[in-house]
Amino acid sequence: GVNAYACTMTALERIPEIVQELREGFHSGVLRDVESRRVHLRALRELFVEQEDRLIDALVADVGKPRIEAYTTEIAFTINEIDHTLKHLDAWTKPTKVKVPLTFKPGSATLRPEPLGTVCIIAPWNYPVQLLFAPLVPALAAGNTAVLKPSEVTPSVSALIEELVPRYFSASTVAVVTGAVDETTALLEQRFDHIFYTGNGKVGRVVMRAAAEHLTPVTLELGGKSPAIVAGDANVEVAAKRIAWAKFLNAGQTCVAPDYVLVDERVEDALVTALADAVTTFYGADPRQSNDYARIVNERHHDRLMKLLEAGGYDATVIGGTGDRGSRYIAPTVLAGVKPDAAVMDDEIFGPILPILTVNDVDEAIRFVSDREKPLALYVFSSDDDTLEHVVSSTSAGGVTTNHAVLHLAVPDLPFGGVGESGMGSYHGKPGFDTFSHAKAVLNKPTRPDPALMYPPYSSVKQKILRKFL
Ligand code: NAD
Repeated sequence: GVNAYACTMTALERIPEIVQELREGFHSGVLRDVESRRVHLRALRELFVEQEDRLIDALVADVGKPRIEAYTTEIAFTINEIDHTLKHLDAWTKPTKVKVPLTFKPGSATLRPEPLGTVCIIAPWNYPVQLLFAPLVPALAAGNTAVLKPSEVTPSVSALIEELVPRYFSASTVAVVTGAVDETTALLEQRFDHIFYTGNGKVGRVVMRAAAEHLTPVTLELGGKSPAIVAGDANVEVAAKRIAWAKFLNAGQTCVAPDYVLVDERVEDALVTALADAVTTFYGADPRQSNDYARIVNERHHDRLMKLLEAGGYDATVIGGTGDRGSRYIAPTVLAGVKPDAAVMDDEIFGPILPILTVNDVDEAIRFVSDREKPLALYVFSSDDDTLEHVVSSTSAGGVTTNHAVLHLAVPDLPFGGVGESGMGSYHGKPGFDTFSHAKAVLNKPTRPDPALMYPPYSSVKQKILRKFL
């Protein structure tokens, strides 16, 4: 498919007005009570149910996603997040009681989640619907008004969202700003109460700098090179299928895709063969003919990926290695005997190229990972629980799935987010609600009794008592 629209752009002078309207909406209390938040979450659910076909059409046009993948990873994922939130909203919004030490009694202490105000959500192009709306769910649940900034790299999705959001939300609750660097820069000059950014670390730094100006807290959902470690005792057939599925889903344009594989040399050959088999089983002898395989988002990314292949630094192309710029197709590619200094090992690949590097054992894999920036995800395959535990406890990553890949991000109450270079903060489920709330500490004291003990003058008797009890 070819992008159906050129990217729409919000007029720069409109941006401060859009944000101002959301601020006024927040202060007028549009989302103050829990019931009004429910109404808005249901409206979002309705948007997804009623507009499913158009959303999927736009995703197909922009990223060539297989329809079923667009449905599961973007539509169903977001609806599940809404349903999970609606189910638990009463519990999450309730103040929680906290114990009061004897010396502060009588009195009662509670922790009260309160909304932050008006938040800004900036999304990238790879899951352009999910990554814009899944953060909106906790933002609304926590009582915030929000401006959404879809990616200019997916213009059909962007234009559709700009059209649809005003049909389901008032401009004082949820608004959309579209465009590229100029528009996002103007947007980031506005004052927000939270900025939630998903994308690359370079722009993450731009966002954090802009946020510092207003002392605005940020959540940065970034990427990185997420390793898959395959131990010598792993079930290689299953590991290969799961790694191939996770890697070639959305043609590798997934933030938690296994970026590269570190395999124990004893099972290297078996794994490489099993990966090639998995690719053929999934996508046929010519994946270009498959309806189940996505395309690269644009020519710039296509060129970037083909250059990585041309740069070498590996022994063999086990499968794939070819591309077609006109249709933005790159075959699912597995590279064997990859050197640590190969071009494919520099940055996050973010495409359908899977480098295989060999290690002597799991400890060498742990060292390899620990020598590099902290990844967003880490996967480890082994049939021994001790080995799994050893790898998980000796490495740092945003999240982990053992003996599978990607799936930890779909467990509703597991926080999803990075650490170090892969980001800060998290969301999904209750952790998402917490991200968009301030946990306000409230101590309620009765007016009586009112002992003179803590007031000056501090007589020696008072001092003795204070020293004894505090
Ligand atoms: P992108 O190019 O669409 O950029 C993301 C957003 O940043 C867009 O809305 C864009 O308009 C905005 N932007 C770009 N330049 C800007 C600038 N100079 N100032 C202000 N805003 C600017 O997407 P991308 O960054 O290429 O996304 C891919 C990256 O995102 C990968 O690194 C991937 O791993 C990461 N990612 C992370 C997650 C996660 O949940 N942690 C999910 C998906 C993608």
